[in-house]
Amino acid sequence: MKSDRKYLFPNVIELNLQAGRPMGVNVYLIDGGSEYVLLDIGQTDALNDIIDLLRHLDFPLSKCKMVIATHADADHVQALAGARERLKTKTAAHPHAAAVLLSGDVVQTYASIPAQNFHIDMPAFKVDKKLDEGDVVKVGDLDLHVWHTPGHTPGQLSFKLNNVLFSGDTLYADSCVGAIDAHHGSNLPDYLTSLRRILADDAAFIAPSHGPAFRKDPAVVQAAIDRLTKYQYLADFGTCAVSWPLQEQWERDVLAGRMPVL
Ligand SMILES: [Zn+2]
Repeated sequence: MKSDRKYLFPNVIELNLQAGRPMGVNVYLIDGGSEYVLLDIGQTDALNDIIDLLRHLDFPLSKCKMVIATHADADHVQALAGARERLKTKTAAHPHAAAVLLSGDVVQTYASIPAQNFHIDMPAFKVDKKLDEGDVVKVGDLDLHVWHTPGHTPGQLSFKLNNVLFSGDTLYADSCVGAIDAHHGSNLPDYLTSLRRILADDAAFIAPSHGPAFRKDPAVVQAAIDRLTKYQYLADFGTCAVSWPLQEQWERDVLAGRMPVL
């Protein structure tokens, strides 16, 4: 049985939308005609369904040029090793994400949050190919431009295809951003650089790793920039904050012998 392909953008299918049911992280298929690539693959329990879907859509498994990890979080890449084997394809990621996957670091991959008793499997895995800023992945006649957009993680990639930016976990439709967490390598100044780049870019649409794709509204990007700018000076963000002005003022007061005004 063949299914009709539901293109979200020209040459782009999102597999949850295509299936008509949520299977996990967004999985974008970039259809270059003679070959295709997948952006993220999700968790192992959805891999069979994704492979069935590819078959129903008449995308031969042998034409999958590459499965690219937007970053090394387990919900995006747990099935990477399985996909590599089943599709007989290559895997690709940013060098930092590749190093995290190779080391089997379950904290940086969010496979394990011991304090919340959260654990999923994320065996160590060697990525075939490294992708970084400025690389271009050819998919048939299409050019997929690779952006390095650190902030949520040091190894976060985004991808530009014509007027669509695949933002990974960098920005969502409601202006939320990927989790900011010191154990995860999050970096607020880097994050702001990545968001300002998105704001300045001419992409008309953003296709994130979670939630719906959306038309790029500068106000949505700016709201994230404004929030993260404040986060840099809030104790709430612990060691991800750049400084905490209250503490600095208090130290000056202590040194000067100034008592607090009560
Ligand atoms: Zn994610």
